[in-house]
Amino acid sequence: MMSVVRVEKVSKDYRLGEQLVRAVNNISISIEPGVFLAISGPSGSGKTSLLNLIGCIDRPTLGEIYINEQSVRGMTDNQLAALRLRSIGFIFQTFNLLPVLSAAENIEYPLLQRTDLSPAERHERVDHFLDVVGLSDRKSNRPNQLSGGQRQRVAIARALAGSPSIVLADEPTANLDKATGVSILQLMKKINEQLKTTFIFSTHDARVVALADRLVQVEDGKLQGLGIRRDGDWVISRARASDTAPNKAPAN
Ligand code: ADP
Ligand code: MG
Repeated sequence: MMSVVRVEKVSKDYRLGEQLVRAVNNISISIEPGVFLAISGPSGSGKTSLLNLIGCIDRPTLGEIYINEQSVRGMTDNQLAALRLRSIGFIFQTFNLLPVLSAAENIEYPLLQRTDLSPAERHERVDHFLDVVGLSDRKSNRPNQLSGGQRQRVAIARALAGSPSIVLADEPTANLDKATGVSILQLMKKINEQLKTTFIFSTHDARVVALADRLVQVEDGKLQGLGIRRDGDWVISRARASDTAPNKAPAN
């Protein structure tokens, strides 16, 4: 089956003074379209580094990333920016909304770079996704006039407005109280089911993992296990260097 994201023997090194930190260590995963995938692992395990590589915000030190089966290695920074604009939506732990813009303007902001959309089409998308996240009555509010959960809803609408095939969310519930965090994840899950958008999110929260249908476990930069949900239960296969797919059936 075609994969929406393929990570092949990818490593990422950061230089920290004299030291070289291998934040991602020889990870290979293949992600099917339409999944609701959690990357889990303790703090410092490489979740953000891996998401930044998948999101083409960062380039791997070693290995290959494919988005919709196209290698991104040879792409220029401008080509990567164009790919992100068309194919990838981002949701952040700290929402990353522009404080001087209203909810509607925040959602519209990335669309302003889309020369293929008329102003009328942009506004139609803004109104549609405000409705999807249940904030039609808050469109004129600035971020500081919204609760944390509402801000994250604006960020979800912003991520979806470009009709990406992939939405990446780095610990999207980390700055929310438990109940709000769960409702944000449930909203993401509903959108995943209705629009078939692939969601890839990182978390160290078991309640968030519980809503996923695919699981990538990382520790110390390495792949530890790949999980697929079958009849409500996780089937986890321990990762070996040769594993390539989180949806591979366990050998039994
Ligand atoms: P997580 O998101 O799971 O907490 P990160 O991907 O942020 O993990 O970090 C993985 C490792 O890489 C950590 O040891 C972290 O200190 C290191 N690291 C992350 N970003 C940088 C950077 N820009 N420079 C140097 N080291 C970094
Ligand atoms: Mg992180």
